[in-house]
Amino acid sequence: MNQSSRRFGRYDITILHDGVFQAPADVLIHAGGDEARKRALAGWSKSAISVDVNCFLLRDDTGITLVDAGTGPSWGDAFGHARAALTAAGVTPDQVQRILISHLHGDHALGLFDGETPYFPQAEIWVPQVELAFFTDEQAREALPASRRSGFVIAAKLQSLYGGRIRSFGEGEILPGIAARSLPGHTPGHTGFIVQDAQHSLLLWGDLVHVEDLQPGDPDVGLVYDLDPAAAARSRHIILKEAARDGWIVSGGHITGFQRVEVVADSYRLVPA
Ligand SMILES: [Zn+2]
Repeated sequence: MNQSSRRFGRYDITILHDGVFQAPADVLIHAGGDEARKRALAGWSKSAISVDVNCFLLRDDTGITLVDAGTGPSWGDAFGHARAALTAAGVTPDQVQRILISHLHGDHALGLFDGETPYFPQAEIWVPQVELAFFTDEQAREALPASRRSGFVIAAKLQSLYGGRIRSFGEGEILPGIAARSLPGHTPGHTGFIVQDAQHSLLLWGDLVHVEDLQPGDPDVGLVYDLDPAAAARSRHIILKEAARDGWIVSGGHITGFQRVEVVADSYRLVPA
């Protein structure tokens, strides 16, 4: 049974459910090409993906931190429920001290905005250094097709609405008991957060895995939203191996609840933790 709220180290962590993202199986790709993709999908009985969109509330005795911010009102009525979940947890937007952003995609960062005003009036927005540098680079923007440029729009809006409240960070401990871990591929600065615990640390892995009943069994399966699919596959291999070996609990932007990674033959599977 997956509880939606658990204690890890010094933090009480609550999953804030924002909505469910659905897309046809066409969005699935494979680092090994078309034939490998067919083989990977042959054993998977679905014709579409349907995945949770989550962000996280972290509470310790110093206050309130979020990991990611959901979509806010930007993706319509089916999304944006993380705000109500935050309220239900007894937290108002002005109580949020900081928001750690895994990457600058809409379902993780648009919730920072309420139209043209910041939704979190007091919060610092912590963005991975590499992510902020990439999505504010005009040449990087020009090199991508228009359909892949949403991160640049978000970065520009973030700078205009949050200005001096933006902080950037690299790998390693960024807050007491929280370490940033670079997971490049989905985006250049895509980052996970390890919440340290004496027994089983928690890795909030952002968009490392979108389809929990498919990608752990073949980490070379990616999504068209991965900006660098080969790098994203490498990050999946590395992290799934490490999570299984070290007994991490994992959660993320698109998997359900808290899970654990198990080795199965020469790949992996997720099981509820
Ligand atoms: Zn993403």
